[in-house]
Amino acid sequence: MCGIVGYIGHREAYPVVLKGLKRLEYRGYDSAGVAIYDGKNIKLSKTKGKVADLETRVKDEITVDGSLAIGHTRWATHGEPNDVNSHPHYSNSGDLVIIHNGIIENYEPLKQELINRGYKFQSDTDTEVLVNLIEDVKKNENVKLGKAVQIALNQVVGAYAIAVFDKNKPDEIVVARLGSPLVIGIGDEEFFIASDATPFIEYTNNAIYLEDEEMAIVRRGKKVKVRKIKDDSLVDPYVQELQLNLEQIEKGGYDHFMLKEIYEQPRAILDTFRGRMLSNDGIIRMAGVDDNIEKFLNAQRILIVACGTSWHAGLVAEYVFENLTRTPVEVEYASEFRYRNPVITEKDVVIAISQSGETADTLAAIKLAKSKGAFVFGVCNVVGSSISRETNAGAYTHAGPEIGVASTKAFTTQITVLTLIALKLAQKKGTISTSEFHGYLSEMDAIPAKVEKTLESDEHVKAISSIYKDATNFLYLGRGYNFPVALEGALKLKEISYIHAEGYPAAEMKHGPIALIDEQMPVVVIATRKGHYEKVVSNIQEIKSRKGKIIAVVMQGDTTIRKIADYVIEIPETLELLTPLLTTIPLQLLSYYIAVMRNCNVDQPRNLAKSVTVE
Ligand code: GLU
Repeated sequence: MCGIVGYIGHREAYPVVLKGLKRLEYRGYDSAGVAIYDGKNIKLSKTKGKVADLETRVKDEITVDGSLAIGHTRWATHGEPNDVNSHPHYSNSGDLVIIHNGIIENYEPLKQELINRGYKFQSDTDTEVLVNLIEDVKKNENVKLGKAVQIALNQVVGAYAIAVFDKNKPDEIVVARLGSPLVIGIGDEEFFIASDATPFIEYTNNAIYLEDEEMAIVRRGKKVKVRKIKDDSLVDPYVQELQLNLEQIEKGGYDHFMLKEIYEQPRAILDTFRGRMLSNDGIIRMAGVDDNIEKFLNAQRILIVACGTSWHAGLVAEYVFENLTRTPVEVEYASEFRYRNPVITEKDVVIAISQSGETADTLAAIKLAKSKGAFVFGVCNVVGSSISRETNAGAYTHAGPEIGVASTKAFTTQITVLTLIALKLAQKKGTISTSEFHGYLSEMDAIPAKVEKTLESDEHVKAISSIYKDATNFLYLGRGYNFPVALEGALKLKEISYIHAEGYPAAEMKHGPIALIDEQMPVVVIATRKGHYEKVVSNIQEIKSRKGKIIAVVMQGDTTIRKIADYVIEIPETLELLTPLLTTIPLQLLSYYIAVMRNCNVDQPRNLAKSVTVE
């Protein structure tokens, strides 16, 4: 799940690669390394730790001149994060050097074969096996690097995005992908290679996204040649124009990307509506849905597949879809779904949700659903991502780049897109009246301003955070549309502050978690005045009677809960179905401030990576 970067052109390559690695750190950050070619030699430096640690080490170890370089920020799969296992990896002769994102599943037999032939290994990684396999093929078959890469990759099982170069042929970098993303930025007489487009956005807007099972030779001063790895056929690559800009991927004055992204939500939700929801005309326009409307209307069921926070967005969507469209919905963890021989038919519509569009399990679930004839619709944030290309149709969330590992604006924009789809289908099916439909649209229109208003609770949430920052356990409760929000609130806290937290449907509390409650236990209850309000008030009383501490997220002007709860955080009034878009906000802020107060690395929590591209 690492980030890879490469450069070949007329500039000094190291600063480009280093900056690129910093932007890709969200993909993994347990070790980092670079290899620079200076016209004569390869200079390689790598270390356990973050890209900042690499920067320090490079200063001590190597000179950084050279117009070709590759770099890596790792999330270990094979071999612990240490200096030796860090990438890049040399081949035995020292001629080839490689960076790799992914897993070579059959690395063990390949390694054994290479050992039998006299190869020695320094690291425990699967990657070092691959670079030596390439070297072995190159020598034995007497072929050029590109051909050797191709032959070697045809022997490999697993997933990869690789960049490799040969010090004897230093005018080219060979790249390939299967299952892990790889983009080539096309500049003026220069090329950039990266796991996503953020490392090169200030240099060029033109990019080729390699497809699975494709490889390319990126040669100085030449056109990029793309081929199929399996049969060597040439591919005419599609050069895409990127819509990213630099400002979108920098912190913009906030201490952390996570806080910036929390504050971007009013705009992100608005951008997700833009051009789609024409509330004055009473129209929702979404090309991916409109073009396939019969599939949606005739669906016997909707299956939602996702992981992590996206799965929580899927759960919210289950409530929304079933309520509005009366189509049965099931929400599945992609990782379970793909391996449990699920029943899928041509009458199913599968919605796959993933911020990055690269989540390995979700991709596999999509492939499985397609193979059974289901229509598969993607909801992703990253344009051009693997999921957006693998699905039959889709709708992007227009959240902008999400860098903080803990997902925030991706979650609310996913809910936004899914709600728009549900409303559109409900209107078409006639399962809601015209006036209800118009009522939803005008309230949706008001949501960005209401999110803005909810963000005003920032200081208050910060104060509550300082009171509970040392708690060891938290319970989050919600009902109906806000049950998944409780799950998401608990996940956010676990991810970035390392405090154990559990999300539960409020009524289920009595079937177990209530035993945990004592005077040490903060319980966050989402208790909007809509939907089972009295029941939630009773749940709060039950917690109170057992001396639990109650932090309640309530609707503006709620006097009942204010009397019982220890702290209340208010959100503006809205329709019940839209409350998750507001109730989520204070829970994001709560986890953010608690993590900051505990000195945790908010944007790069331990053991996690932003985009989970391994299963
Ligand atoms: N499998 C390789 C390793 O463990 C690459 C992991 C990654 O994608 O970061 O070194």
